[in-house]
Amino acid sequence: MRYNVAQLLKAQSGQTRQYTLHEDISHLDPDIVPLTMLDGDIQFIRSVDGIFVFGTLHTSLELTCVRCLTQFALPLEFTLEEEFRPTIDVYTGVALPLPPDDEVATQIDAHHELDLAEVIRQNLLLAIPLQPLCRSKCAGLCPVCGQNLNEGSCDCRTTEIDPRLEKLKALLEDEL
Ligand SMILES: [Zn+2]
Ligand SMILES: [Zn+2]
Repeated sequence: MRYNVAQLLKAQSGQTRQYTLHEDISHLDPDIVPLTMLDGDIQFIRSVDGIFVFGTLHTSLELTCVRCLTQFALPLEFTLEEEFRPTIDVYTGVALPLPPDDEVATQIDAHHELDLAEVIRQNLLLAIPLQPLCRSKCAGLCPVCGQNLNEGSCDCRTTEIDPRLEKLKALLEDEL
């Protein structure tokens, strides 16, 4: 996901470039299991200090439902809005001063290449829900027998006893 932006760095601010992304992201991060390619359109805009990157990207990831523990496909869409800064002057090759808190992920390298991989990784991880659910009303697993209650009910539910009543029952039995 590297783009040579030497020409755009030489252009006036406001100049743009458009790219269509179609990337295999299966090696982007061990926590990301893509089921499709990463697709979308991105726009580079020459800013005063560097290059703004805007884009809307989509893919489909394999996630594990927190309730029923089955794997399911979740289509995800996320946006990129990042400003990349050159580290080297495109005309003179002289190193440019960068703000002390500048992130390496948004630096344009000495070969005038801008790499989208790290900002895509970060934004994609943020787009993944913290508590993924296979469906909004996932019934989960039976706590007694482990039956996936989305696929059918089990016999445990009718005989299930409230744990507080269970304690009371034990106390009563002790007294008898
Ligand atoms: Zn589920
Ligand atoms: Zn059960």
